[in-house]
Amino acid sequence: MGDLFVYNTLVGDKVKFEPVSAGNVGIYVCGPTVYSEVHLGNCRTFVSFDVVVRYLRFLGYNVRYVRNITDAGHLENDSDFGEDKISKKAKLEQLEPMEIVQKYTLNFHSVMSQFNTLPPSIEPTATGHIVEQIEMVKSILENGHAYVENGSVYFDVAKYNSDGNNYGHLSRRDIEEMSAGSRDLQGQQEKRNPVDFALWKNASEEHIMKWPSPWGIGFPGWHLECSAMGAKYLGDHFDIHGGGMDLKFPHHECEIAQCVSAHKKNPVNYWMHTNMLTLNGKRMSKSTGNTLLPEDIFSGENAILNKAFSPMVVRFFMLQAHYRSILDFSSEALSASEKGFNKLMQANLLLQKAIYSKATLDKQLETKVVDLINGCYKHMNDDFNTPLTIATLFELVAIINTLNSTNSFGTLSEKVFNSLQNTMNGFIIDVLGLDSVQINNKNDKSEKLIELMLSLRAEAKNNKDYALSDKIRDDLTKIGVVIKDGKDGTTFTLT
Ligand code: AMP
Ligand code: ZN
Repeated sequence: MGDLFVYNTLVGDKVKFEPVSAGNVGIYVCGPTVYSEVHLGNCRTFVSFDVVVRYLRFLGYNVRYVRNITDAGHLENDSDFGEDKISKKAKLEQLEPMEIVQKYTLNFHSVMSQFNTLPPSIEPTATGHIVEQIEMVKSILENGHAYVENGSVYFDVAKYNSDGNNYGHLSRRDIEEMSAGSRDLQGQQEKRNPVDFALWKNASEEHIMKWPSPWGIGFPGWHLECSAMGAKYLGDHFDIHGGGMDLKFPHHECEIAQCVSAHKKNPVNYWMHTNMLTLNGKRMSKSTGNTLLPEDIFSGENAILNKAFSPMVVRFFMLQAHYRSILDFSSEALSASEKGFNKLMQANLLLQKAIYSKATLDKQLETKVVDLINGCYKHMNDDFNTPLTIATLFELVAIINTLNSTNSFGTLSEKVFNSLQNTMNGFIIDVLGLDSVQINNKNDKSEKLIELMLSLRAEAKNNKDYALSDKIRDDLTKIGVVIKDGKDGTTFTLT
């Protein structure tokens, strides 16, 4: 099937993928900070890595996939000063910080499962690994790359670099320039150099989430959890580390420095970064309010789209762009994706149901099908190029539809016909993670039953029995049938 090539941010190029231990892959992806609902931009990053993990498994690798939950230490504006994002939200919603964590972790899991992403093998939390983080700070201090100031511990970037290391390499930043250009004044007096970053922060009286440490009561710096948990579950030198491009600096740059200092080893072979989902040409981001929530797209209740779209259509839309390209969200693009998705799933359904009966071999067609099957692997092997893989699947769809309408699948050899069936199912369902249930349902009785429920609901409404009509809607929603009342009547989507 050829070699797999991965774009490695550390190298700035596509490089051949060779795991540390043959047949096994360790991958760590930075998870969400659970202080609010995940927006569609966050989802794009997690869906992208879901496909990476799926493809590695499809190739036969035994993958350990670690994706953390950040439930402490992430301060406002991603800086070393200010309030913890979770504590702040807890005050706002008048809940315990751990209630906030629970609420938004559940939201995250529910959204991830609607997008049909596979759960990680391990999902560690920052608060569950305070001991490991303190141990790591101790090692960095022992190695002379950190200093203590007023109960806080800061990483000493200049000292680290003077020992022959290269802070700034991953994000291609020049430390001299950064030191001179920094305007981050708040609390800066504690740091020897503006580029230094917090490993452990002294907690003020009103700070809620805090733990005892050798340096006093405090909490870990944001970058520390991923270094500590990555090393704990994947070892101090593992294969792939991923996240959105915005995490390259400072988060991942700091992670590397912490690990190199504590373990005297380059922690990760391949750094992968996903590009941003944009809305109206601007990055989707919680802090600017330029966001769309997945639920609002699935229900159709939003100001941007004129109808609801199912999670699988949104997933398909995301995969039609390469993970390193910017993707702009729009109603038109989603509608086009919906058509494409239905066409792809319908053709695969026809193919899987087709009964093979041998006919005269069409050699030219057979060669073309084999080339296209190989093309699917070729494109996925080229840094997980999902758009070109999908384009290749559509070339196969055209052939499948012709063979189906002329009832001539038998013009392929049985071996190639079987391989075509396996490839279509393998790439669509296993690799791209497109769940066929939603389209299958259209062909069975459940759609008719839903229509029947909707007509009973309409009748209840006419009789002004709103309790009953609301009950029908709520009960349908609970089993994943989302109803939308529009000008032209009631429509539904399956989630
Ligand atoms: P956060 O919860 O803010 O730490 O973000 C979780 C993940 O979502 C990180 O990997 C971010 O890089 C990623 N992310 C945030 N905004 C976007 C966006 N607009 N498009 C793609 N990924 C994003
Ligand atoms: Zn991280």
